[in-house]
Amino acid sequence: MTTVLTPASPLTAGDRCDRCGAQAYLRVVLISGGELLFCAHHGRKFEPELKKIAAEIQDETGRLTETPASAGADER
Ligand SMILES: [Zn+2]
Repeated sequence: MTTVLTPASPLTAGDRCDRCGAQAYLRVVLISGGELLFCAHHGRKFEPELKKIAAEIQDETGRLTETPASAGADER
C-alpha cells in the first residue's frame, strides 16, 4: 500500500470544467494517473462513473453552498 499525500492545492477560478468550461469545483485524480476537472453540475452528473475510475476525488462543491447543512444555526 502506498500512502497518497495530497498536496491539497485548492481549485482556483482558473480551473475549468473539462465538459463545459465553467469554473471547476471537483478535481478527479484517475487511477490511471490522469486528472479531470468538473464543475459542480458535471461533477454530480458523472459522480457514479467517476467513483469507478477515480483514485481520489477532491470535492470543493461545498464552497458553492450558501447554507451549509452542517451550519447548525436554524434561522426560520
Ligand atoms: Zn461542467
